[in-house]
Amino acid sequence: MPDFKNYIGGRWVDAKGGGAIERGNPATGAMIGSFPKSGREDVVAAVEAASAAFDSWRRYPAPKRGEILYRVGQLMMEHKEQLGREMTEEMGKVLTEAKGDVQEGIDMAFYMGGEGRRMFGQTVPAELPNKWAMSVRKPLGVVAAITPWNFPMAIPTWKIMPALVAGNTVVLKPASYTPRMAVRLVEIFEEAGLPKGVLNLVIGSGQDAGEVLLQHPDVALISFTGSTETGTHINVEAAKSLKRVSLELGGKNAIIVMDDADVDLAVEGIVWSAFGTSGQRCTAASRVIADRKVADEITQKIADRAEAMRLGDGLDASTDVGPVVSKSQLDRVQSYIVIGQQEGADLAVGGRVADWGDLSKGHFHQPTVFGNVKPDMRIAQEEIFGPVTAVIPVDGLEQAIDVANNVKYGLSASIYTQDVNRAFRAMQELYTGICYINAGTIGAEIQLPFGGTKSTGNGHREAGQAALDVVTEWQAIYVDYSGRLQRAQIDDVPNVG
Ligand code: NDP
Repeated sequence: MPDFKNYIGGRWVDAKGGGAIERGNPATGAMIGSFPKSGREDVVAAVEAASAAFDSWRRYPAPKRGEILYRVGQLMMEHKEQLGREMTEEMGKVLTEAKGDVQEGIDMAFYMGGEGRRMFGQTVPAELPNKWAMSVRKPLGVVAAITPWNFPMAIPTWKIMPALVAGNTVVLKPASYTPRMAVRLVEIFEEAGLPKGVLNLVIGSGQDAGEVLLQHPDVALISFTGSTETGTHINVEAAKSLKRVSLELGGKNAIIVMDDADVDLAVEGIVWSAFGTSGQRCTAASRVIADRKVADEITQKIADRAEAMRLGDGLDASTDVGPVVSKSQLDRVQSYIVIGQQEGADLAVGGRVADWGDLSKGHFHQPTVFGNVKPDMRIAQEEIFGPVTAVIPVDGLEQAIDVANNVKYGLSASIYTQDVNRAFRAMQELYTGICYINAGTIGAEIQLPFGGTKSTGNGHREAGQAALDVVTEWQAIYVDYSGRLQRAQIDDVPNVG
């Protein structure tokens, strides 16, 4: 079985304690490799390597830092097929989606590579003569990226690439379910010529490795994507040493379907958004808020589509829905099926762990649709993170928007309508970080900000220009070339002419 290592200070190394953990394919159970079980010593070594590399990296010209990202993007393009296949083996999503995950990383590499020659600050007029005023971005120092398993290539790139182009150094702690993709990504950075120590990889559990990053005084920023519970804990711990924290947490995303909508188009968007990546996306559509006039038709049409979906190994071209990532994730999904039935929702289709034939080797769950769901039911309020969606009938646009907003999360929302007034009203009233018109809730592009309101995060955004705000400090610079003391807000401006 392949033996994978940490990457610290430009060297591939075992965990200092020597421990290792084996990981398997969630579709077939086949073993993928053995990975280091890192602890405090390994994390401390990685942070020290990143700290040591920081001064020379921040002085390395930003356009040159960007050129390394271009090379990374190029290499990812060359290896896209293989990376996609390995991702499917490691976490289960179907190959087309796995390649899409890699493509997000490629897009980010080229976008952030370009930032190496932009990273705009502002030059503004000064209020006194012979004085110059401008602002520039400064890196923070060592950035800890703690990432989940559902986008094992895209999410690490979203955190690493803005951080690096801005002149920070990075320690990556990937999810325990997807360490191989993290190794592959770091290998690409190494091949692209990233100097030693600038990017470090520590593979280990949240408890043994992640916690050390939260406490280490030399870590300036924790950039985290994952559960609300872990994100809250990180925020509390990091506050003790005033670290900056960027959190991208859960969602309970809704697709609104109005009675004037193109219903078949809406059904396409719902099926893709609810069951893509087996529902394990923070933007997954786990609620469908349908005008009562079309709710039954929509429930039936989604149920028919869900029933026809083929479960299987994501490498098989005929598979529509892969496994969920783990047995514990499967149990969690199943527990919500029971909750939904106890709450009185109609189980329109699915609801079972798929444990027949070859599927019994993996963690498969039937795509599931609940109908006649009430907005306050737990299945309509809590993140399930599996192939389950709930149709909530409502009366008209106002109620649809109220129901959409009335959850603790605020990541993504969508509306299907052919009425431009309704579309604009929804854009105005939906309180989410991402809003779609006549498209599902998934499929964000990397050149716009990504993140959400309320318990979805703590006000920061990834991707786009907004990502740079997370990984930099602003410095305001005043240059006085008058040759005399000029006091802002106090001295009068001398008469001109
Ligand atoms: P977690 O939030 O626990 O894990 C995300 C990352 O945080 C992993 O790298 C994990 O390491 C690490 N971590 C866990 N505990 C700590 C800690 N104390 N200190 C530092 N790092 C830590 O999510 P899970 O994988 O357990 O998934 C549970 C639920 O979270 C899902 O069902 C889903 O609802 C939600 N989730 C949301 C995601 C999103 O995109 N918003 C992504 C993934 C999950 P390790 O893997 O070793 O535990």
